[in-house]
Amino acid sequence: MRTPVLAANWKMHKTIDEAVAFTAALREQVKDVTDAEIILSPPFTAVRAVADAARGTRLGIAGQDLFWETQGAFTGEVSAGLLKDAGATYVIIGHSERRHLFGETDAAVNAKVRAALASALTPIICVGETLEERESNRTLAVLDRQIAEGLTELTAEEAGGLIVAYEPIWAIGTGRSATPAQAQEAHASIRARLEQAFGRDAAARCRVIYGGSVKPESIRKLSTQPDIDGALVGGASLDPSRFAQIVAGGRPTPV
Ligand code: PEP
Repeated sequence: MRTPVLAANWKMHKTIDEAVAFTAALREQVKDVTDAEIILSPPFTAVRAVADAARGTRLGIAGQDLFWETQGAFTGEVSAGLLKDAGATYVIIGHSERRHLFGETDAAVNAKVRAALASALTPIICVGETLEERESNRTLAVLDRQIAEGLTELTAEEAGGLIVAYEPIWAIGTGRSATPAQAQEAHASIRARLEQAFGRDAAARCRVIYGGSVKPESIRKLSTQPDIDGALVGGASLDPSRFAQIVAGGRPTPV
């Protein structure tokens, strides 16, 4: 039985004060949740403040990206060590906005994943196809490539501890979610690829979560699919009550 993950990705939203107010409101609303991992991903500027506001709770904190070097002359970049120092224990890697707006390649994703693991940060690795790739029946091949190249040189132990986020690009921020059946097909294929590369035990342990226009109204049908272990949520995670509703719907036993 895999523990579900409900992760908020705030992208380039929320000042420090707004992020802290959100965290204070959410911690109240989810204080009884012990059967799911809840993760907040603030902008870098608010990581420390959110980690402080979440202290003493089960809320986890993620960076939205990192750079693979440990330190040096890399203006504007943030290392795994700096993220950990600020209070993060997870990091989102290879989000489609990084891949498409900032030219991030599968090789860069792999270097970032390995840097995260070397610093004991749990990577949340995003994969997903464009609309054009889906319409030309290339979805599963694209996912295979992203998984194979993004996870190169990982051990089975490391692969089992990952969180993979299946985020079809056409569903992100569009209001058009994948159907539960479309998402389940992609998740099952990702798990099969993980099994091929890392063995059955690692594939069975790895959490594969769905992202793309998840709403309080859609989470339950998605999260009851056998290979969907939670959600990565953008727009609907900006409001604490809506995100708390998503947490409630994504739990093994919803309230
Ligand atoms: C995301 O950016 O990771 C995401 C899933 O966004 P949204 O929920 O807004 O589609």
